[in-house]
Amino acid sequence: MTRVIRSVRTMTAWSLALHREGVVIGVVPTMGALHDGHRSLIRRARLSCDAVVVSLFVNPSQFGPGEDFSRYPRPTRADAALCREEGVDVLFMPSREAVYPQGFQTTVTVRELARRWEGAKRPGHFDGVATVVTKLFGLVRPHVAFFGQKDFQQSVLVRRLVEDLNLGVRIVVCPTVRERDGLALSSRNRYLTPVQRRSAPVLHEALQAGRTAILRGIRFGSQIGRAMRGVIETDPKVTVDYLAVCDPDTLEPLPRVTKSAMLLGAVRLGRVRLIDNLLVRLDGR
Ligand code: AMP
Repeated sequence: MTRVIRSVRTMTAWSLALHREGVVIGVVPTMGALHDGHRSLIRRARLSCDAVVVSLFVNPSQFGPGEDFSRYPRPTRADAALCREEGVDVLFMPSREAVYPQGFQTTVTVRELARRWEGAKRPGHFDGVATVVTKLFGLVRPHVAFFGQKDFQQSVLVRRLVEDLNLGVRIVVCPTVRERDGLALSSRNRYLTPVQRRSAPVLHEALQAGRTAILRGIRFGSQIGRAMRGVIETDPKVTVDYLAVCDPDTLEPLPRVTKSAMLLGAVRLGRVRLIDNLLVRLDGR
């Protein structure tokens, strides 16, 4: 049975009671419209935790003006059904007012890691993410939290945040789940028209072209960048927000690849914005 909790007070009380019994609590933070990517995180949490909480909160503070907050999909019944199917213990669905009550005035900012890529294209986004994740950890008191590599910059930032603020939560980052044609699963994929959907795998193809270039011995970030961009440019329906070759730890651009590289990409198809990434290692790990 999945218990639905909406009250923040009930959520924390539930968690503290389990802490007293020595139960290991895992949380999977989501914005809902759950798909097999989220499902993989839940399954991973089920494997290593005694109790699994899925949080579902479309966090207004991580959307910029003109972004898709109001039209973000909210298929709550289907989300609850998926949680039941996966044996989730608690589906935590707080209201906006419960998370940001009257008088709320704290923002958590991670500096350098939030500056580039998604942070540059979506000003304020990572302040919203860092603040809501901190808040969520305070409410749910998890031992472990599960994030997807799909949002790689987010996962790096959350690790930093947890370490900097001694939050005591273990962060597990799970591989990206993809459609058969390579498109990374995303709640936003449902915005794509059939024509856009056919173009969407080009982002993954571009990242793979970057990987191929590196594995063939190309080491200059600029050249690898051109190889990726060349693939996107084959499809006029797709425009590049950014394509980056960067250090997987600092997310700073890599002029030259030596040990490993994180290839990050964001593109637009009409009003839909997609992100993806690929880690390339030269050290055989
Ligand atoms: P979201 O609901 O989009 O905020 O995502 C919630 C969590 O699911 C985040 O940690 C995402 O990185 C993760 N996630 C989203 N899409 C995928 C995917 N295709 N594969 C694995 N994890 C994902």
